[in-house]
Amino acid sequence: MKKTVAFSKNAANLFFHLLTRCNLRCRHCYINVKQHGKNTLDLETIEAWLKILAVINKKANVIFLGGEPTLHPDLPAAIQKAKFLGYNSITVDTNGYLFNNILTKVSPDDVDYFSFSLDGVTRKTNDMIRGKGSFDTCIRGINRAVRKGFNTSLIYTVSAMNIHELDSIAPLLHDLKIDRFFIQVIGIRGKSAENRKNQLQVSSGDWLKIVPDAARKIARYGITVTYPKVFLSPEDPFECAGLVADNYFIFPNGRVYRCPLCEDYPLHSMVFKDNTLVNTPRINENDFFALDIDEGCVMNKLIQPDNLSDISDGTTKHKIACCMLKEEIRN
Ligand code: SF4
Ligand code: SF4
Repeated sequence: MKKTVAFSKNAANLFFHLLTRCNLRCRHCYINVKQHGKNTLDLETIEAWLKILAVINKKANVIFLGGEPTLHPDLPAAIQKAKFLGYNSITVDTNGYLFNNILTKVSPDDVDYFSFSLDGVTRKTNDMIRGKGSFDTCIRGINRAVRKGFNTSLIYTVSAMNIHELDSIAPLLHDLKIDRFFIQVIGIRGKSAENRKNQLQVSSGDWLKIVPDAARKIARYGITVTYPKVFLSPEDPFECAGLVADNYFIFPNGRVYRCPLCEDYPLHSMVFKDNTLVNTPRINENDFFALDIDEGCVMNKLIQPDNLSDISDGTTKHKIACCMLKEEIRN
């Protein structure tokens, strides 16, 4: 069954970056320390921010990220606090190194999903993108998490470097007992923005030819597959999550964005100051969300116009969907 995961005002997500430090140096890393600093949040601050955000929407899903969040020695305490506050679900996004013996300090009752990042079906492709040894370490990490009874998901960021392997990933996911598979599209942020000339993005033709079919094939293994819609046909409705959804992208220097495409710029609409969440002065991302343009997502047009260069295939002129609009397939 395929469905478009519509935005809902009742669903909220906190993408909580506890630190920007990471042991890896992935070629497409979206973390931008010039914008988000090198701070590691202390536990007191993490707890205070979780408490404030729980007042706004305690039914939010919390996703702890970094950098690499398991490098944070207080991650187990942060998870416990989020659990105590009654958040809807708790996910830890990890590169698989699972530092600080994290799997021995939390239980499957505390963490809904450990979400691993792998960017190739082969060691060669993954390690070319994410660094030597990262494929084997991630596979070991997934096996350890599954053995301990955790639910696992896997995130595959599609780029020109690895789209050719996406179609063959299903048996690997099945062998690893992965529950959910997330296909991401590479964002032109952080290192990908610095290395723009390397053309890491895939064309609309390749995306539409390869990704939906690969997703269907993987779903046949009983795995729930989610992928961003990216390209809308003229008849598809366009909505901006900044207007109709409740997402918070929180960084350790206090910035809080509603739109991830804005993260390379000081366009955040909120900021934590002395553990109070305040709105930032205009102009900020909120001023752009309501702009109605033929091309769809306004931030895409402003920040990564390269995406628009091939949205017409001669017969259909696509719009760019909100980056948070997903298709979900489950059998
Ligand atoms: S694991 Fe994540 S945070 Fe670390 S370098 Fe790779 S993309 Fe960046
Ligand atoms: S990606 Fe585009 S459509 Fe989605 S929230 Fe940002 S500006 Fe709005």
